[in-house]
Amino acid sequence: MLELNNVVKIYTTVAGDTAAMNGVSIKFPDTGMVFITGKSGSGKTTLLNVVGGLDGFDSGEIIIDGKNFSTFTSKEYDSYRNTFVGFIFQEYNLLPDYTVEKNIRIANELQGKQTSSEEIARLLEEFDIAGLQHRKPSELSGGQKQRVAIVRSLVKDPKIIMADEPTGALDSATGIQVMETLKKLSKTKLIIVVSHDMELSEKYADRIIRLVDGEIVEDVTITDSEIKGNIYQDENLLTVKSGASLDPHETEQLLKAIREKKKIAFTEKFSIRKKQKTKEVITSSDVGNIELINSKMKVKSAAELGLKSLKVKPGRLIFTIFLSVIAFAVFGLFDTIAAYNDSRAIEKLLKDSEYSAISITTDYFSDEYQGNSIRISKESVEKYTNDFGYDFRPVYDIYDATLASTNAKSNLVNLKDPQASAKGSMYFYDYVTGFVEFKNDELVRNENGVVSTLDPSGFNLQLVCGNFPATKIENGALINGTMTDIAISEYLAKSIAYWKQITDIKELIEYKIQIRNKEYTIKGIYSCGEIPSKYNPLMIAEPTGVNNPLAEDFQTFIYSGLYLNVFVPEGYMDVLINENNRVAPCYAGDRVYKFTYEDPDGNGVDDTYG
Ligand code: ADP
Ligand code: MG
Repeated sequence: MLELNNVVKIYTTVAGDTAAMNGVSIKFPDTGMVFITGKSGSGKTTLLNVVGGLDGFDSGEIIIDGKNFSTFTSKEYDSYRNTFVGFIFQEYNLLPDYTVEKNIRIANELQGKQTSSEEIARLLEEFDIAGLQHRKPSELSGGQKQRVAIVRSLVKDPKIIMADEPTGALDSATGIQVMETLKKLSKTKLIIVVSHDMELSEKYADRIIRLVDGEIVEDVTITDSEIKGNIYQDENLLTVKSGASLDPHETEQLLKAIREKKKIAFTEKFSIRKKQKTKEVITSSDVGNIELINSKMKVKSAAELGLKSLKVKPGRLIFTIFLSVIAFAVFGLFDTIAAYNDSRAIEKLLKDSEYSAISITTDYFSDEYQGNSIRISKESVEKYTNDFGYDFRPVYDIYDATLASTNAKSNLVNLKDPQASAKGSMYFYDYVTGFVEFKNDELVRNENGVVSTLDPSGFNLQLVCGNFPATKIENGALINGTMTDIAISEYLAKSIAYWKQITDIKELIEYKIQIRNKEYTIKGIYSCGEIPSKYNPLMIAEPTGVNNPLAEDFQTFIYSGLYLNVFVPEGYMDVLINENNRVAPCYAGDRVYKFTYEDPDGNGVDDTYG
């Protein structure tokens, strides 16, 4: 509706030229509350006056409803100022000798239109100033005056309301009333508010544009995003949804907050305000329409399949994002829209997946391997947790420099007998894709201190046999077990049984397997959901390397869950990192490396990324 392109406005005075607008470009949304902030003299008022048609400009263009300002006839110009835009000023600009009713009416009368007394009375009531129509402005409080000014701007039914420091002359309580009023109007109109009050803008803005010396230095969009679950913990406040029934984990969170005397709030509206850089080139509705180009791995179908296959599983699910599934999809998105907004793309993807818990692969790079893979850092994981309110759990892979020249992935676990490699089942994989740490507080111990359940945190894992590793580190000391005690999925157990020709997976408890040349003891086997029987035909051994669409589907499926993950005790990744020969090379204390390498044609070039 309203767009500014590179608008320049220069004031020339005897003292010299001032660029009050120095190349300002903004594409305003049709509705919502946009705050223009900045210090005194930064050009806020100038911007408002220029956009409102009250003042001219030197260069650039302003486009209203697809029409360039410069092509406006003087009649169109007048109509824009008089009916399209409504103004609210800091000093109210009410005519002191006229009653409230006359002040309101005059806006329309100037254009030869009448406003009925009933209509005025209705509007006054709507804005909580009923019955004041016959008073003069001097008989009103500041807040009342400003609301009269709002009503006056509204009788023209403008599409845009421009308010210059509307709360500047009001005390804060009255200021909030005025903001609430404008917020209400912003559901159907574009409200542009000039304000230097950061607190108000943070609270009410849908978007904040900050000016310094006539230039935009910041442009952020703020959205309320709904939080899944019933509890939301941020740095210093635990927010609980009113009237919610908490699950055991949430109850524990609440009790913990009480014990630790944290601040707790109950709220009906369960959402967080999150700020993102405004990207006008692409709107969120566009994201869904973007064609996923550059997708060697049939990105879109892979992602859809991955998501679909998970949707059939009940309860709170974990969605493990591996490079072969979402990351490839995100890749496609990244390739296509990284220039616009990666967070939004990911968010959309995650939202569409409808999962309450998501684990994401952390991904670091060594100097040895400078790939162009997607990188999801620990910081990103934290950021996504905060931004989206999901429970992100890193999945760690290990990069071992000594194996860099070989196919690193299949070296994670060597289950296969080398002689058997010419033929094999496409159903049973012979590797794991990453480590996931237990969190000690989600291990539920029975009276003997034995871990019996992993609960609940969204993993929804059922113990099939054995135990979840009970190992834990407290104050740097290891308490029972060893750090190389692991739990694996029933699927992985069946795979091991297949490759090692073991008849019963129960025999795998206390079994030792090699992962990246290091020995681990299987302590527990968990189920993380049924594998659809349509994949059963893949169990029959076939020559490897056959192009089989069902096998491709299956790969997406199997990578999407926790089937190929290994659960390790909390703190294990730190242990691993400290063993330089295992996670090599170690550059920083918290680093493990995600290494993905796809080289089907064997030419040494990573084909995944073209
Ligand atoms: P803000 O509203 O952010 O305080 P303004 O838009 O009023 O800022 O002013 C921006 C700059 O333009 C300032 O440097 C101000 O001195 C200058 N300016 C504003 N109006 C005029 C004018 N009529 N003549 C000359 N300079 C002006
Ligand atoms: Mg000003």
